[in-house]
Amino acid sequence: MRERVPKSIYKSVKQVQAGEAELSLEVAEVVANAMKDWAIEKGATHYTHWFQPLTGLTAEKHDSFISPTPEGRVIMEFSGKELIQGEPDASSFPSGGLRATFEARGYTAWDTTSPAFLKEDNTGVTLYIPTAFISYHGEALDKKVPLLRSMEAINRQTIRVLRALGNETSKRAITTVGPEQEYFLVDAEYFNRRPDLMLTGRTVFGSMPAKGQEMDDHYFGSIKERVADFMRELNFELWKLGISAKTQHNEVAPSQFELATIFNSSNVATDTNQLVMETMKKVASRHKLVCLLHEKPYAGVNGSGKHNNWSIGTDDGQNLLEPGDNPQDNAQFMLFVAATIKAVDKYAKILRMAASNAGNDHRLGANEAPPAIISIFLGDQLQNILEKLAGGSPSERNGGEKIELGVSTLPKLPKDITDRNRTSPFAFTGNKFEFRMVPSSESIAGPNVVLNTAVAEVLAEFADELEKGEDKIAVIQKLVKKTWKDHKRVIFNGNGYSDEWIAEAEKRGLPNIKTTVEAIAELISPESVALFEKHKVFTREELESRYEVYLEKYCMQLNIEASIMVQMSNLQIFPAATAYAKVLADSAAAIKNAGGDASAQAEVLKKISTEIRGLKSRTDELEKEIETAKGGSDPFEMGKAFRFRVFEKMQEVRSHGDALETMVARNYWPFPTYEDLLFRL
Ligand code: ADP
Ligand code: MG
Repeated sequence: MRERVPKSIYKSVKQVQAGEAELSLEVAEVVANAMKDWAIEKGATHYTHWFQPLTGLTAEKHDSFISPTPEGRVIMEFSGKELIQGEPDASSFPSGGLRATFEARGYTAWDTTSPAFLKEDNTGVTLYIPTAFISYHGEALDKKVPLLRSMEAINRQTIRVLRALGNETSKRAITTVGPEQEYFLVDAEYFNRRPDLMLTGRTVFGSMPAKGQEMDDHYFGSIKERVADFMRELNFELWKLGISAKTQHNEVAPSQFELATIFNSSNVATDTNQLVMETMKKVASRHKLVCLLHEKPYAGVNGSGKHNNWSIGTDDGQNLLEPGDNPQDNAQFMLFVAATIKAVDKYAKILRMAASNAGNDHRLGANEAPPAIISIFLGDQLQNILEKLAGGSPSERNGGEKIELGVSTLPKLPKDITDRNRTSPFAFTGNKFEFRMVPSSESIAGPNVVLNTAVAEVLAEFADELEKGEDKIAVIQKLVKKTWKDHKRVIFNGNGYSDEWIAEAEKRGLPNIKTTVEAIAELISPESVALFEKHKVFTREELESRYEVYLEKYCMQLNIEASIMVQMSNLQIFPAATAYAKVLADSAAAIKNAGGDASAQAEVLKKISTEIRGLKSRTDELEKEIETAKGGSDPFEMGKAFRFRVFEKMQEVRSHGDALETMVARNYWPFPTYEDLLFRL
């Protein structure tokens, strides 16, 4: 931009990006023209407004740069107006009733703070303009609008706090995010023979071979080369999009990998993560692989999540969650740590809501990272410091020395302190917090909206106190002390997977929301409405619309999963098991006829017949449960029916299907097994 537009225009855009000025049409005209020239030089013929509707995917509508002239010629054109605003056909995106049909229009508006980019596919090169998607009346129809509003909310309150502490130089506070994306790769040939994987992203049947993890080594050699090729190309494609990424294969499960991008401002990180997920899928298909972003593709195998590394920075380069070198900075650091602790404890239910989806129900609280209870890991050092500041009982190990805010420098905190606790859902990692509950397949916008707004609310309370007080250090001391006293119940350094923790958390009064349906209900709780309305992140209507959209999405997903299960059970497993049972029956009869001992065949036949009987009955019951659940009218009641009746019945059907898999001869089994899916890359 600096190279291609006049200095004054460049300055204007920078001011717009910093929230200091409104974007004028004149400025937009110049920028649009420069963008177009840049894009056309690189081979682009089209542009698109790119947005993130509530489907969780991205959407786009391509328009050509070509405009006819009155003389019948064509020119390549892209106006300021086209840059600033688009009008996609919005009627096909979920809005939860916000957009009545008579005003079906939705508008996309340029997000000036997220870089435009070029993307190449079979249709050519296209200029992508990141936008926000709003209704005719300005209601948020996407994931971006609330995210930008939440960034504004936390900016406002952070600046208030900084001003009260005497900082007159920082102009803006910006939340930063660095997501770590987990995913699985599977051979496309096996994938294509699994209707469940193809249609839902997860297997509804299948059992882990007993010696599964050991097989890892056996296949590792060949995996390495194919995956390395994929990763090389993935990195290359991401770099072309301007995304700095580092792929690694270090995950717990076989065929599971991770990609971390370098942190950025929350909205850019969100855009980038959407592109990362999309690019993973695209590049995988070029290698005859399929990238699974689902939270739990395989039962009994570690699932996938996203680690949302989060901090607050300023435009002049401070990281407010980084301990400083002098007592003043340390006091400020403590204040922001305290604000985060209080926000996470006070708004735990809403934060839990933001990390829920049908896929994550298989992970959170299901004996896998992390539990459904939100707690914070600080590490011994930071916890000790907070305890001392609060006048609590300092731990023996660190001696009894007194720490005073604004006087003492803090002991240096090692950066890798949290590596010792991987079970914590919310961990301090030296200069940021890491929210580890985020579902792997979803946009990171939602969790960051909640995090930003919740912390903004606590910072607002803190700012009120600081603005009143004369002795700022004394006020900080008081706030930190009170926060510790009121909210240390959320601090937990132990094993988050243990049963003792569940009991202990209950004693402490920490919420344990086990399912997505219950979590979604938190979206419209009085507490949630008050929080989001106060900070102008969501109106009540916007929350209600999202509540409806998310419940619908949840029901739809469970409906598809259950229906696929019925189909695979009736049309694949039942016929295969029956055919094999007949082979056993025939052989048993023949062996017996010939005077042999057919008791083994008879025994297996009996077991198989019992399982077939069970499978058939449970599948019939499942079909009925699906019909009943679908017949509901209230979305919340439907969600509960799907979760507590359909989903539960699916476990029963599965147990028979998986039992048959262990008895029916491999060449009779109708689809690839976990062994194929996980170990034959
Ligand atoms: P790890 O040891 O887990 O790899 P890193 O320091 O590499 O830790 O960080 C992991 C992620 O956290 C990366 O995506 C990184 O960009 C991001 N990150 C680092 N600093 C910040 C920050 N100040 N705000 C947000 N994310 C950050
Ligand atoms: Mg991490």
